[in-house]
Amino acid sequence: MYIVFEGIDGAGKSTQIRLLKEWLEANGFRVETLVEPTDSEVGKLIRKILQRPDATTDRIQKTLGLLFAADRMLIMDKLSDEKKVIISDRSFISSLAYQEPASWIREINKYAKVPDLVLLLDLDVKTSVNRSNQEDEFENEEFLTNVKVNYLEIIKDFNHKIIDANGGINKVSSDIKKAVAPYMGICPDCIR
Ligand code: ADP
Ligand code: MG
Repeated sequence: MYIVFEGIDGAGKSTQIRLLKEWLEANGFRVETLVEPTDSEVGKLIRKILQRPDATTDRIQKTLGLLFAADRMLIMDKLSDEKKVIISDRSFISSLAYQEPASWIREINKYAKVPDLVLLLDLDVKTSVNRSNQEDEFENEEFLTNVKVNYLEIIKDFNHKIIDANGGINKVSSDIKKAVAPYMGICPDCIR
């Protein structure tokens, strides 16, 4: 099973992936987690470019679109382990939400693995800006509002669940477990 977490910065992806991993492991599953950008050579380059003051410009966004597609190709083999639950922090769906045009992003990502389940952590943009500890160009309300709107549209093409990420960590975690439980043969009503 390949589960993807999506959502703007500060939505709680890292926090919730850690909690979901612990819970699945406690239920006897083997879990592997991944983060995009990865720690590959391309991923390192992406992290560097993300820090540029012009990172939100069209030219750099298109550069990032290409690099993210390449970074994904490099780790493709890790996504198909039959014995493990793979949980990824972001996927090509992030590229569709952040970069454009969509037809081009889809084309350069056409070999990327389609997630079995996408959990979209939906957070208010203002809360995102307050929670985020990164000081980069993406902490911009207008930019993030656009990404959020894109996400809600794109997500319809995938097997997904929208999770309200505005609540406390435990409430969000419990909603995520309830969404994942049916795929794991765990009773959703047994979750607090
Ligand atoms: P992401 O990986 O999506 O950027 P993080 O999990 O890193 O988000 O969370 C960003 C910050 O917000 C962290 O400081 C984290 O502790 C905090 N946080 C995460 N979830 C919640 C929540 N439900 N309520 C309040 N703060 C949260
Ligand atoms: Mg994170």
